[in-house]
Amino acid sequence: MSESPGAPVLRMESVRKTFGGSVVLRDVCLEVAPHTVTALIGASGSGKSTLLRCANLLEEIDDGAIWLDGEEITDPRADQDAVRRRIGVVFQAYNLFPHMTVLENITLAPRRVHGVPRAQAEERARELLERLGLGDKAGAYPDRLSGGQQQRVAIVRALAVRPRLLLLDEITAALDPELVGEVLAVVRDLKDDGMTMVLATHEMGFAREVADQVCFLDGGVVLERGTAEQVFGDPRQERTRRFLRRIV
Ligand code: ADP
Ligand code: MG
Repeated sequence: MSESPGAPVLRMESVRKTFGGSVVLRDVCLEVAPHTVTALIGASGSGKSTLLRCANLLEEIDDGAIWLDGEEITDPRADQDAVRRRIGVVFQAYNLFPHMTVLENITLAPRRVHGVPRAQAEERARELLERLGLGDKAGAYPDRLSGGQQQRVAIVRALAVRPRLLLLDEITAALDPELVGEVLAVVRDLKDDGMTMVLATHEMGFAREVADQVCFLDGGVVLERGTAEQVFGDPRQERTRRFLRRIV
């Protein structure tokens, strides 16, 4: 099932998504190459979260198609659970289970969904915690951690199943400003490790630094797409310029 090297990990073609009568994604095309970072930028309500949720099959699309590693995952015959197991997702709110320790939070999916034996799941979890500077937090409950630590645990949890693709939806938006840096540093490390990621973010400086590809969404349309240098340095569209002037 694995594709030739360089083939896109994620591909969206002419994706359309409506809620009720309103079109939220219109003719969205996206290609995410292996080991690259794609940043989705755009105002609130422009469709960034919906795009990520469609990519993870949390939302059903109205038209178009989506491929993961060359397999059409929007084909009705696709095994949706198997697809979701190959995609890690981290949302704005950490969504850790409060009654479980950090280690239990992280090993839940590998054990229950992927059938990994406990010892092996815990070993992998401890390895990742160590890597993300949380080696001493395995036994802690989420409410004893700072927001930044909780979000890093959420990232570890997403990585625990060795996803092919990581989707990050405004993962620093709920954090106090002084905690944003430690979470962004993790994303930077993952990029250096070659993880393929698509992230929605309002951190423009970070997007510019880390993204290989930037997509500016406006009213559900990918209005502009290019390298970070091009989109931030020399935007082609007046609307992109206006958005960047407002936010940077
Ligand atoms: P962003 O993440 O860029 O802020 P969203 O993808 O959350 O944008 O939302 C895009 C549009 O879709 C918004 O107008 C929002 O109100 C609408 N929307 C998102 N989710 C739903 C839903 N479940 N039901 C109805 N409308 C929705
Ligand atoms: Mg959003």
